[in-house]
Amino acid sequence: MEFTDVKELLSWLFVEDKSVELFAFTAWMVWNQRNKIRASQNAVPLHLLCYDLQRDGRGYEDAWRGHTKQALLKRKVTADPICERCRSAVEESVHAVWSCSELGEVWDVGDEWCFRSEMEFTDVKELLSWLFVEDKSVELFAFTAWMVWNQRNKIRASQNAVPLHLVAEQAKQKLNQFKADWRNPRVRALEVLDVSNNQLIGQIPQCLLNSSNSLVLSMRNNHFQGNLPEPFINGCSLRTLDLNHNQIEGKIP
Ligand SMILES: [Zn+2]
Repeated sequence: MEFTDVKELLSWLFVEDKSVELFAFTAWMVWNQRNKIRASQNAVPLHLLCYDLQRDGRGYEDAWRGHTKQALLKRKVTADPICERCRSAVEESVHAVWSCSELGEVWDVGDEWCFRSEMEFTDVKELLSWLFVEDKSVELFAFTAWMVWNQRNKIRASQNAVPLHLVAEQAKQKLNQFKADWRNPRVRALEVLDVSNNQLIGQIPQCLLNSSNSLVLSMRNNHFQGNLPEPFINGCSLRTLDLNHNQIEGKIP
């Protein structure tokens, strides 16, 4: 399957009755992990991320809904199912990320979610379905809800958390960044490309030489041939280029 954007992928997941929530959760963790690596912070290795999700076969159910206070009460992990933000309702999934009265700073700042006080949803899946039918931004909802959930978990773990009044704006920024990178992941995210010693033939793809990223490109010991394109010679931002042992003509600046 190929999807042009996240919205298309989400729509397909809905139509095919796949777990949209699990997808949103997994995508969020992958995204988080990428950002941590880029910021040189400790990140969960990808293979452990998968383990985290699947460890007890309940995946998402356990990762989100399963950790609400209502669920913990059922499993007798806690005796108190009440939401710690508002102290006035049982914390089930839709309450934790959406309907809690203390989340006004997140959801009631613009017009986008003005139906929050009028609509009632029994769970997050019902809310997501409704957003789809009404053509609301499911992606922005997924990002924002995950930031709210993350924020709650950090507070509970006594870690630094984004203040609630900044969550809506940051979710928008993160979504825009996510979309920009998602649309062109190969070119934008690529920083090191090493295809040396591969018997590759043909011309060097021009998009690599014109990449606006400071790319490290190692293509030594192949059978690339032809001239280096003019735009490349005039200006390019490659950090390193290794074309040794090919049949390339033209000057390297
Ligand atoms: Zn609450």
